[in-house]
Amino acid sequence: MVDPTSDHHEDIDEEDAPNCEVCGAPIANEVTHRVITWIADDSVQTAHFCDEDCRAEWDGE
Ligand SMILES: [Zn+2]
Repeated sequence: MVDPTSDHHEDIDEEDAPNCEVCGAPIANEVTHRVITWIADDSVQTAHFCDEDCRAEWDGE
């Protein structure tokens, strides 16, 4: 499975930031931000990670 990564930087507040699926940290303007998307039940699922280490720890749900 290819992991699409996000390399764009957005100026967002922490309140609006997604939380890391592994450690729960808000991801605001993290250059190490990783995003995975996949299709489940005909809808797009998204998982955010604060860095590659957390992404590697995640084994899906
Ligand atoms: Zn994390």
